Amino acid sequence: MAGYTRLLGDIDHLIVTIRPFARQLAALQRRMKAAGLFANERELLDCPQCGLREDVLISGLLITYREPGFPQDTGLRFEELTADTFRCPSCGQKVNERFASDEPISGFLAKPATKRCKSAAPAKEGKRKA
Ligand SMILES: [Zn+2]
Repeated sequence: MAGYTRLLGDIDHLIVTIRPFARQLAALQRRMKAAGLFANERELLDCPQCGLREDVLISGLLITYREPGFPQDTGLRFEELTADTFRCPSCGQKVNERFASDEPISGFLAKPATKRCKSAAPAKEGKRKA
């Protein structure tokens, strides 16, 4: 019982310690989003109807494009409807994060298993067809 009480105390201490950093992170994500950067808080989106896709440039800038146009930014941005549902700015299709192209479909991947990194990893652009 003493161990359990100590564990709860440790968790409380950890929460108190982390809270200011979590607030700073949330503020930074808001600033990044306002600047057009990808704040890393969700999956990148692909519209299953018209093929509009999101990606992140090395600079961190969030763009949308259609194959084979990467990295030409269309200037269009998915509209956030709920925490995980977006509207395609091109065709109006509702796009849910769980329908991202890398999600398994009946046990298979819709595309080759190249992980779409959520961060602005420097090597990312080189993997795309120009
Ligand atoms: Zn669309």
